[in-house]
Amino acid sequence: MAQFRVIPVSEPNFKGNELKYVTDCINSNWISSIGKYVSKFEEVFARFCGTTYAVSTCNGTTALHLALLSLDISEGDEVIVPDLTFVATANAVAYCGAKPVFVDVDPRTWNIDPSKIYEKITGRTKAIIVVHLYGLPCDMDAIIKIARSNNLKIIEDAAEAHGAEYKGKRVGSIGDIGVFSFYGNKIVTTGEGGMITTSDPKLVEDIKMLRDHAMSKTRRYWHTALGYNYRITNVQAAIGVAQMEQIDSFIETKRRNAALYNSLLQDVRGITLPPEVDLCKNVYWMYSVLIEDDFGVTRDEVIERLMKNGIETRPFFYPLHQLPMYKGEFVCFEAEELSRKGINLPSATTLTEGEIRTVCAALDSMRL
Ligand SMILES: *Cc1c(COP(=O)(O)O)cnc(C)c1O
Repeated sequence: MAQFRVIPVSEPNFKGNELKYVTDCINSNWISSIGKYVSKFEEVFARFCGTTYAVSTCNGTTALHLALLSLDISEGDEVIVPDLTFVATANAVAYCGAKPVFVDVDPRTWNIDPSKIYEKITGRTKAIIVVHLYGLPCDMDAIIKIARSNNLKIIEDAAEAHGAEYKGKRVGSIGDIGVFSFYGNKIVTTGEGGMITTSDPKLVEDIKMLRDHAMSKTRRYWHTALGYNYRITNVQAAIGVAQMEQIDSFIETKRRNAALYNSLLQDVRGITLPPEVDLCKNVYWMYSVLIEDDFGVTRDEVIERLMKNGIETRPFFYPLHQLPMYKGEFVCFEAEELSRKGINLPSATTLTEGEIRTVCAALDSMRL
């Protein structure tokens, strides 16, 4: 019997020099966190984003943690976070002893709603983390205006948006500091890995210290603060360098696939297509749609039936204010609605046109 391929929601694309560079690490014995690929990966990534610096970490969550620490976020501080995001965005705030304050998202963009930030700012608010959800940049002009007038720092959680652009600027270069993930399902992957982008040399110095147990540069084993081991390995960075050689084609493929999905799904009643925003380049990390009530089949049932047809999908994140550790005073109606209706369709760069047509046909045929 022929092997049955499940159409994946995501899968790594290792068609470049990944194996060659990893083999070089093994052959040269440079497998730990010192080696030429680490500095090369950082250089290439900074150039790609348009920042002066990029500092690698062992995953996106630790990148967020270090970014917050470098901005002196600590016990008693509050940090504004969108309610609809992956849990790591808020967890990193909690690791600092600070409080994530959830703000509802805009149903037209699925990103944090700038008009709802003001009412959440208190005397303790120190920063805003914006998340470019599923690859679409946030309304950065509005957010920068709020941050400037309230003396807040901006962290861009760009874990899902490598190469996305807002008014011609790449994400990660717009706020004070940017954060990326290279988890296996991200646009560029190193298995596990992360990156911090900034043009502020002072932040870079702090981040590099904290990443390496805050060891003194001049006195070995003298640690000047509570630091961490959040370093990436040369082996992971080797994969990253090979992936960065292909990032333009990954993004082009994601956008081409999204355009095909849009054209095939635009007339299906009960399906809302992903947002498009003027002056933004969406990289469609996950091509996502909303299953509206008039589709006739619930989102969860859609997921189940697609799986039976060999099509893998994901539901949207839960609103973070509903999770046990963050349950509290927050009301975010739009995030709840999107979370209930949203679905990530197969978005791998390895998909064929035929597979995308299969997904759309399966969706269309199950509508009541
Ligand atoms: C993936 C992701 C992260 C964290 O990345 P890890 O590398 O898995 O730690 C953070 N924020 C968002 C929005 C993400 O999607």
